[in-house]
Amino acid sequence: MKVFYSDKMVADQGEQGLGEGILKSPSSRKPEELALLLNRYPWIEFVEPNPVTLDDFKLVHDPYYVEDIMDGTELNGFGNNSQAIANTLPYTTGAMCDAALAATHDQATCALVAGFHHAGYSGWRKLGYFCTFNGLMVAAAKMILEHKKKHVTIIDCDMHWGNGTDDILKYIKELQPHITHISFGQYFDGPKDAEQYLSWFEPEGIVEKSLMLDRPDLILYQAGADVHVDDPYGGVLTTEQIRRRDKRMFELAKMMGIPLAWNLAGGYQIEENGSIQKVLDIHLNTFEAYREVYLCDQEDWETSAFKPDWYSPPGETIECCLNERNRSVEWFSEQLGRSVEFTESFMKGEEVLTPEIAKKLVDLFGSTQKFWLRREKTYRQDRSRIENERHQGN
Ligand SMILES: [Zn+2]
Repeated sequence: MKVFYSDKMVADQGEQGLGEGILKSPSSRKPEELALLLNRYPWIEFVEPNPVTLDDFKLVHDPYYVEDIMDGTELNGFGNNSQAIANTLPYTTGAMCDAALAATHDQATCALVAGFHHAGYSGWRKLGYFCTFNGLMVAAAKMILEHKKKHVTIIDCDMHWGNGTDDILKYIKELQPHITHISFGQYFDGPKDAEQYLSWFEPEGIVEKSLMLDRPDLILYQAGADVHVDDPYGGVLTTEQIRRRDKRMFELAKMMGIPLAWNLAGGYQIEENGSIQKVLDIHLNTFEAYREVYLCDQEDWETSAFKPDWYSPPGETIECCLNERNRSVEWFSEQLGRSVEFTESFMKGEEVLTPEIAKKLVDLFGSTQKFWLRREKTYRQDRSRIENERHQGN
Protein backbone atom coordinates (compact mmCIF):
# COMPACT_ATOMS: atom_id res chain seq x y z
CA MET A 1 0.00 0.00 0.00
CA LYS A 2 1.05 3.58 -0.56
CA VAL A 3 1.85 5.69 2.48
CA PHE A 4 2.45 9.37 1.83
CA TYR A 5 5.20 10.72 4.01
CA SER A 6 8.31 12.86 3.86
CA ASP A 7 10.59 14.38 6.50
CA LYS A 8 9.52 17.75 5.05
CA MET A 9 6.23 17.14 6.90
CA VAL A 10 7.95 17.11 10.27
CA ALA A 11 9.20 19.98 12.43
CA ASP A 12 9.50 20.59 16.11
CA GLN A 13 6.27 22.28 17.10
CA GLY A 14 8.24 24.96 18.95
CA GLU A 15 7.23 26.53 22.21
CA GLN A 16 3.53 26.03 22.48
CA GLY A 17 1.74 29.25 23.30
CA LEU A 18 -1.70 27.86 24.04
CA GLY A 19 -1.68 28.60 27.75
CA GLU A 20 -2.25 26.69 30.97
CA GLY A 21 -3.86 23.29 30.95
CA ILE A 22 -3.47 22.55 27.24
CA LEU A 23 -1.35 19.42 26.92
CA LYS A 24 1.46 19.44 24.43
CA SER A 25 0.43 17.55 21.34
CA PRO A 26 2.70 14.78 20.06
CA SER A 27 1.13 15.13 16.61
CA SER A 28 4.10 16.85 15.00
CA ARG A 29 6.54 14.04 15.87
CA LYS A 30 4.10 11.13 15.57
CA PRO A 31 4.43 10.65 11.78
CA GLU A 32 8.22 10.40 12.00
CA GLU A 33 8.17 7.77 14.75
CA LEU A 34 5.42 5.83 13.03
CA ALA A 35 7.28 5.89 9.70
CA LEU A 36 10.26 4.23 11.40
CA LEU A 37 8.05 1.44 12.71
CA LEU A 38 6.30 0.98 9.36
CA ASN A 39 9.62 0.29 7.68
CA ARG A 40 9.33 -3.29 8.89
CA TYR A 41 6.27 -3.96 6.71
CA PRO A 42 7.46 -5.06 3.28
CA TRP A 43 4.04 -4.30 1.75
CA ILE A 44 4.27 -0.59 2.55
CA GLU A 45 5.63 1.72 -0.10
CA PHE A 46 6.55 5.23 1.05
CA VAL A 47 5.72 7.96 -1.42
CA GLU A 48 6.94 11.57 -1.23
CA PRO A 49 3.99 13.94 -1.27
CA ASN A 50 3.85 16.98 -3.53
CA PRO A 51 3.36 20.25 -1.64
CA VAL A 52 0.08 22.08 -2.23
CA THR A 53 0.10 25.74 -3.23
CA LEU A 54 -1.26 28.76 -1.38
CA ASP A 55 -4.11 28.79 -3.90
CA ASP A 56 -4.98 25.25 -2.85
CA PHE A 57 -5.32 26.36 0.78
CA LYS A 58 -7.45 29.28 -0.40
CA LEU A 59 -9.99 26.88 -1.90
CA VAL A 60 -11.28 26.35 1.65
CA HIS A 61 -9.70 29.08 3.78
CA ASP A 62 -9.86 32.86 4.03
CA PRO A 63 -7.07 34.12 1.72
CA TYR A 64 -5.81 36.58 4.35
CA TYR A 65 -5.50 33.81 6.94
CA VAL A 66 -3.51 31.69 4.47
CA GLU A 67 -1.09 34.53 3.68
CA ASP A 68 -0.70 35.47 7.35
CA ILE A 69 0.08 31.92 8.45
CA MET A 70 2.65 31.42 5.73
CA ASP A 71 4.49 34.69 6.45
CA GLY A 72 4.29 34.20 10.22
CA THR A 73 2.05 37.15 11.11
CA GLU A 74 -0.71 34.80 12.35
CA LEU A 75 -0.18 32.11 15.00
CA ASN A 76 -0.43 28.46 13.92
CA GLY A 77 -2.58 25.81 15.66
CA PHE A 78 0.16 25.30 18.27
CA GLY A 79 -0.07 28.97 19.24
CA ASN A 80 3.29 30.10 17.86
CA ASN A 81 4.62 31.46 14.60
CA SER A 82 7.46 29.05 13.92
CA GLN A 83 8.56 29.32 10.29
CA ALA A 84 9.70 25.69 10.44
CA ILE A 85 6.09 24.64 11.14
CA ALA A 86 4.76 26.88 8.36
CA ASN A 87 7.15 25.19 5.93
CA THR A 88 5.69 21.75 6.73
CA LEU A 89 2.08 22.75 6.05
CA PRO A 90 2.07 22.48 2.22
CA TYR A 91 3.50 18.96 2.61
CA THR A 92 1.11 17.70 5.31
CA THR A 93 -1.93 18.81 3.31
CA GLY A 94 -0.15 17.66 0.13
CA ALA A 95 0.14 14.16 1.62
CA MET A 96 -3.64 14.05 2.20
CA CYS A 97 -4.33 15.26 -1.36
CA ASP A 98 -1.93 12.76 -2.93
CA ALA A 99 -3.33 9.92 -0.81
CA ALA A 100 -6.85 10.87 -1.91
CA LEU A 101 -5.84 10.84 -5.56
CA ALA A 102 -3.94 7.54 -5.34
CA ALA A 103 -6.64 5.55 -3.51
CA THR A 104 -8.44 2.91 -5.60
CA HIS A 105 -11.33 0.56 -4.90
CA ASP A 106 -8.95 -2.26 -4.01
CA GLN A 107 -6.08 -0.26 -2.50
CA ALA A 108 -6.66 2.21 0.29
CA THR A 109 -3.91 4.74 0.97
CA CYS A 110 -2.63 6.54 4.05
CA ALA A 111 -1.29 10.03 4.68
CA LEU A 112 0.94 10.00 7.76
CA VAL A 113 -0.47 13.22 9.13
CA ALA A 114 -2.59 14.47 12.01
CA GLY A 115 -4.26 17.73 12.83
CA PHE A 116 -6.75 19.00 10.25
CA HIS A 117 -10.32 19.02 11.44
CA HIS A 118 -10.42 21.96 13.87
CA ALA A 119 -9.19 24.33 11.18
CA GLY A 120 -12.19 26.34 9.97
CA TYR A 121 -12.56 28.83 7.16
CA SER A 122 -10.70 31.56 9.08
CA GLY A 123 -8.44 29.25 11.06
CA TRP A 124 -8.37 27.40 14.34
CA ARG A 125 -9.26 30.08 16.89
CA LYS A 126 -12.45 29.40 18.83
CA LEU A 127 -12.66 25.93 17.22
CA GLY A 128 -9.84 23.91 18.84
CA TYR A 129 -6.10 23.45 18.94
CA PHE A 130 -3.34 21.86 16.88
CA CYS A 131 -4.93 22.28 13.42
CA THR A 132 -3.68 25.13 11.22
CA PHE A 133 -5.10 24.21 7.82
CA ASN A 134 -7.86 21.73 7.04
CA GLY A 135 -6.13 19.22 4.77
CA LEU A 136 -9.27 17.05 4.65
CA MET A 137 -11.26 19.85 3.09
CA VAL A 138 -8.44 20.91 0.76
CA ALA A 139 -8.23 17.30 -0.48
CA ALA A 140 -12.02 17.00 -0.84
CA ALA A 141 -12.27 20.36 -2.64
CA LYS A 142 -9.47 19.51 -5.06
CA MET A 143 -11.01 16.11 -5.87
CA ILE A 144 -14.34 17.77 -6.67
CA LEU A 145 -13.16 20.97 -8.36
CA GLU A 146 -10.08 19.69 -10.20
CA HIS A 147 -10.45 15.93 -10.54
CA LYS A 148 -14.14 15.84 -11.47
CA LYS A 149 -15.19 13.62 -8.59
CA LYS A 150 -18.88 13.93 -7.81
CA HIS A 151 -18.96 13.16 -4.13
CA VAL A 152 -16.58 12.80 -1.20
CA THR A 153 -17.58 11.41 2.22
CA ILE A 154 -15.51 12.38 5.25
CA ILE A 155 -15.79 9.89 8.10
CA ASP A 156 -14.18 11.51 11.08
CA CYS A 157 -13.51 9.06 13.93
CA ASP A 158 -11.34 11.37 15.95
CA MET A 159 -12.51 11.77 19.59
CA HIS A 160 -13.51 15.34 18.84
CA TRP A 161 -16.07 16.99 16.61
CA GLY A 162 -14.64 18.06 13.25
CA ASN A 163 -16.02 21.54 13.77
CA GLY A 164 -13.51 23.14 11.39
CA THR A 165 -14.75 20.90 8.59
CA ASP A 166 -18.36 21.93 9.29
CA ASP A 167 -17.31 25.56 9.50
CA ILE A 168 -15.77 25.45 6.03
CA LEU A 169 -18.81 23.66 4.61
CA LYS A 170 -20.96 26.46 6.02
CA TYR A 171 -18.88 29.07 4.18
CA ILE A 172 -18.31 27.37 0.85
CA LYS A 173 -21.80 26.62 -0.36
CA GLU A 174 -20.76 25.23 -3.74
CA LEU A 175 -19.09 22.29 -1.98
CA GLN A 176 -22.07 21.43 0.24
CA PRO A 177 -23.95 19.12 -2.17
CA HIS A 178 -20.74 17.20 -2.92
CA ILE A 179 -19.43 16.49 0.56
CA THR A 180 -20.94 14.38 3.34
CA HIS A 181 -19.36 14.82 6.74
CA ILE A 182 -19.95 12.31 9.54
CA SER A 183 -18.11 13.32 12.70
CA PHE A 184 -18.34 10.74 15.50
CA GLY A 185 -16.89 13.20 18.00
CA GLN A 186 -20.10 15.17 17.84
CA TYR A 187 -22.13 12.28 19.25
CA PHE A 188 -20.07 10.05 21.56
CA ASP A 189 -18.21 10.96 24.69
CA GLY A 190 -17.61 8.03 27.05
CA PRO A 191 -17.08 4.25 27.33
CA LYS A 192 -20.84 3.85 27.88
CA ASP A 193 -21.25 4.82 24.20
CA ALA A 194 -18.86 2.18 22.83
CA GLU A 195 -21.47 -0.28 21.54
CA GLN A 196 -23.55 2.41 19.92
CA TYR A 197 -20.41 3.89 18.37
CA LEU A 198 -19.53 0.56 16.77
CA SER A 199 -23.14 -0.03 15.70
CA TRP A 200 -22.73 2.85 13.26
CA PHE A 201 -20.41 0.56 11.29
CA GLU A 202 -22.71 -2.46 11.39
CA PRO A 203 -24.85 -3.57 8.42
CA GLU A 204 -27.52 -0.93 7.81
CA GLY A 205 -25.80 1.34 10.32
CA ILE A 206 -25.38 5.07 9.78
CA VAL A 207 -22.12 4.70 7.83
CA GLU A 208 -23.33 2.07 5.39
CA LYS A 209 -26.65 3.84 4.81
CA SER A 210 -24.87 7.10 4.11
CA LEU A 211 -22.49 5.43 1.65
CA MET A 212 -25.39 3.66 -0.08
CA LEU A 213 -27.23 6.94 -0.46
CA ASP A 214 -24.38 9.15 -1.68
CA ARG A 215 -22.27 6.55 -3.48
CA PRO A 216 -19.15 8.69 -3.02
CA ASP A 217 -16.11 8.43 -5.29
CA LEU A 218 -13.87 8.71 -2.25
CA ILE A 219 -13.89 8.25 1.52
CA LEU A 220 -11.56 10.33 3.66
CA TYR A 221 -11.23 8.53 6.98
CA GLN A 222 -9.84 10.07 10.15
CA ALA A 223 -8.66 7.04 12.11
CA GLY A 224 -8.26 8.93 15.39
CA ALA A 225 -6.36 7.32 18.28
CA ASP A 226 -7.56 9.82 20.89
CA VAL A 227 -10.88 7.96 21.08
CA HIS A 228 -9.01 5.44 23.28
CA VAL A 229 -10.40 5.09 26.83
CA ASP A 230 -7.00 5.93 28.36
CA ASP A 231 -6.40 9.04 26.28
CA PRO A 232 -6.22 12.25 28.33
CA TYR A 233 -8.47 13.89 25.71
CA GLY A 234 -10.57 10.69 25.16
CA GLY A 235 -12.08 8.25 25.32
CA VAL A 236 -14.77 5.85 24.22
CA LEU A 237 -13.20 2.66 22.83
CA THR A 238 -10.70 0.06 23.99
CA THR A 239 -7.76 -0.92 21.78
CA GLU A 240 -9.69 -3.95 20.55
CA GLN A 241 -12.77 -1.86 19.78
CA ILE A 242 -10.72 0.69 17.82
CA ARG A 243 -9.34 -2.17 15.79
CA ARG A 244 -12.87 -3.40 15.10
CA ARG A 245 -13.86 0.11 14.04
CA ASP A 246 -10.97 0.35 11.57
CA LYS A 247 -11.58 -3.10 10.17
CA ARG A 248 -15.27 -2.40 9.62
CA MET A 249 -14.50 0.86 7.88
CA PHE A 250 -12.10 -0.87 5.50
CA GLU A 251 -14.50 -3.76 4.91
CA LEU A 252 -17.33 -1.42 4.02
CA ALA A 253 -15.19 0.61 1.64
CA LYS A 254 -13.79 -2.48 -0.02
CA MET A 255 -17.13 -4.25 -0.28
CA MET A 256 -18.75 -1.20 -1.84
CA GLY A 257 -15.81 -0.55 -4.17
CA ILE A 258 -15.13 2.96 -2.83
CA PRO A 259 -11.53 4.27 -2.73
CA LEU A 260 -10.47 5.29 0.78
CA ALA A 261 -7.63 7.47 2.06
CA TRP A 262 -6.99 7.69 5.77
CA ASN A 263 -4.93 9.76 8.14
CA LEU A 264 -3.89 9.49 11.77
CA ALA A 265 -5.85 12.28 13.47
CA GLY A 266 -5.50 12.72 17.26
CA GLY A 267 -3.82 10.67 20.00
CA TYR A 268 -2.33 12.17 23.16
CA GLN A 269 -1.18 9.37 25.46
CA ILE A 270 2.32 10.32 26.51
CA GLU A 271 4.08 8.25 29.14
CA GLU A 272 6.17 9.78 31.90
CA ASN A 273 9.39 9.04 30.06
CA GLY A 274 8.01 10.90 27.03
CA SER A 275 7.22 7.78 25.00
CA ILE A 276 4.17 7.85 22.70
CA GLN A 277 4.29 4.10 22.09
CA LYS A 278 0.66 3.61 23.16
CA VAL A 279 -0.53 6.01 20.46
CA LEU A 280 1.79 4.42 17.89
CA ASP A 281 0.41 0.96 18.76
CA ILE A 282 -3.15 2.10 18.04
CA HIS A 283 -2.07 3.48 14.65
CA LEU A 284 -0.15 0.28 13.88
CA ASN A 285 -3.38 -1.62 14.54
CA THR A 286 -5.05 0.41 11.79
CA PHE A 287 -2.36 -0.83 9.40
CA GLU A 288 -2.96 -4.39 10.62
CA ALA A 289 -6.68 -3.96 9.94
CA TYR A 290 -5.80 -2.72 6.45
CA ARG A 291 -3.63 -5.77 5.86
CA GLU A 292 -6.39 -8.13 6.98
CA VAL A 293 -8.99 -6.54 4.73
CA TYR A 294 -7.08 -5.48 1.63
CA LEU A 295 -4.12 -7.84 1.39
CA CYS A 296 -5.56 -11.28 1.92
CA ASP A 297 -6.47 -12.59 -1.51
CA GLN A 298 -9.90 -11.89 -2.92
CA GLU A 299 -11.39 -15.38 -2.47
CA ASP A 300 -10.07 -15.60 1.04
CA TRP A 301 -11.57 -12.30 1.98
CA GLU A 302 -14.93 -13.04 0.49
CA THR A 303 -15.23 -16.36 2.26
CA SER A 304 -13.74 -15.53 5.63
CA ALA A 305 -13.51 -11.92 6.64
CA PHE A 306 -16.92 -10.37 6.33
CA LYS A 307 -19.92 -12.56 7.11
CA PRO A 308 -23.00 -10.46 7.60
CA ASP A 309 -26.22 -12.14 8.78
CA TRP A 310 -28.18 -10.44 6.01
CA TYR A 311 -27.98 -10.19 2.27
CA SER A 312 -28.87 -7.45 -0.12
CA PRO A 313 -29.33 -7.86 -3.87
CA PRO A 314 -27.60 -5.38 -6.20
CA GLY A 315 -31.15 -4.17 -7.00
CA GLU A 316 -31.11 -2.27 -3.69
CA THR A 317 -28.10 -0.26 -4.80
CA ILE A 318 -29.77 0.29 -8.19
CA GLU A 319 -32.93 1.50 -6.45
CA CYS A 320 -30.85 4.14 -4.61
CA CYS A 321 -29.33 5.21 -7.94
CA LEU A 322 -32.79 5.49 -9.53
CA ASN A 323 -34.22 7.50 -6.63
CA GLU A 324 -31.25 9.80 -6.71
CA ARG A 325 -31.88 10.52 -10.38
CA ASN A 326 -35.67 10.60 -10.07
CA ARG A 327 -36.00 7.69 -12.47
CA SER A 328 -38.56 4.90 -12.40
CA VAL A 329 -38.21 1.14 -12.73
CA GLU A 330 -40.03 1.49 -16.08
CA TRP A 331 -37.31 3.85 -17.29
CA PHE A 332 -34.66 1.42 -16.09
CA SER A 333 -36.32 -1.53 -17.87
CA GLU A 334 -36.33 0.49 -21.12
CA GLN A 335 -32.63 1.22 -20.72
CA LEU A 336 -31.97 -2.47 -20.12
CA GLY A 337 -34.11 -3.42 -23.11
CA ARG A 338 -36.02 -5.93 -20.94
CA SER A 339 -39.61 -6.23 -19.76
CA VAL A 340 -40.79 -4.52 -16.60
CA GLU A 341 -41.53 -7.99 -15.13
CA PHE A 342 -37.95 -9.10 -15.72
CA THR A 343 -36.59 -5.84 -14.32
CA GLU A 344 -38.69 -6.07 -11.17
CA SER A 345 -37.58 -9.59 -10.42
CA PHE A 346 -33.99 -8.65 -11.28
CA MET A 347 -34.18 -5.85 -8.70
CA LYS A 348 -35.36 -8.38 -6.10
CA GLY A 349 -32.31 -10.52 -6.84
CA GLU A 350 -34.24 -13.29 -8.61
CA GLU A 351 -32.45 -12.74 -11.92
CA VAL A 352 -28.68 -12.85 -12.37
CA LEU A 353 -26.60 -9.72 -12.90
CA THR A 354 -24.65 -10.75 -16.01
CA PRO A 355 -21.50 -9.06 -17.38
CA GLU A 356 -23.73 -7.56 -20.08
CA ILE A 357 -26.01 -5.97 -17.48
CA ALA A 358 -22.97 -4.84 -15.48
CA LYS A 359 -21.72 -2.98 -18.55
CA LYS A 360 -25.10 -1.26 -18.90
CA LEU A 361 -25.06 -0.31 -15.19
CA VAL A 362 -21.67 1.38 -15.60
CA ASP A 363 -23.10 3.47 -18.45
CA LEU A 364 -26.22 4.38 -16.49
CA PHE A 365 -24.90 4.85 -12.96
CA GLY A 366 -21.11 4.79 -13.05
CA SER A 367 -18.58 2.79 -11.00
CA THR A 368 -16.90 -0.19 -12.68
CA GLN A 369 -18.04 -3.47 -14.18
CA LYS A 370 -15.90 -5.23 -11.57
CA PHE A 371 -17.79 -3.43 -8.80
CA TRP A 372 -21.22 -4.54 -10.06
CA LEU A 373 -20.11 -8.12 -10.66
CA ARG A 374 -18.55 -8.32 -7.23
CA ARG A 375 -21.72 -6.84 -5.75
CA GLU A 376 -23.64 -9.70 -7.41
CA LYS A 377 -21.13 -12.32 -6.30
CA THR A 378 -21.18 -11.16 -2.69
CA TYR A 379 -24.99 -11.16 -2.71
CA ARG A 380 -25.16 -14.74 -4.09
CA GLN A 381 -22.58 -15.98 -1.58
CA ASP A 382 -24.25 -14.30 1.40
CA ARG A 383 -27.66 -15.52 0.33
CA SER A 384 -26.67 -19.14 -0.11
CA ARG A 385 -24.67 -19.16 3.11
CA ILE A 386 -27.54 -17.68 5.13
CA GLU A 387 -30.10 -19.98 3.51
CA ASN A 388 -27.87 -22.94 4.35
CA GLU A 389 -27.52 -21.78 7.93
CA ARG A 390 -31.29 -21.37 8.25
CA HIS A 391 -31.80 -24.79 6.74
CA GLN A 392 -29.40 -26.33 9.22
CA GLY A 393 -30.98 -24.39 12.06
CA ASN A 394 -34.41 -25.87 11.37
ZN1 LIG B 1 -9.09 14.87 18.69
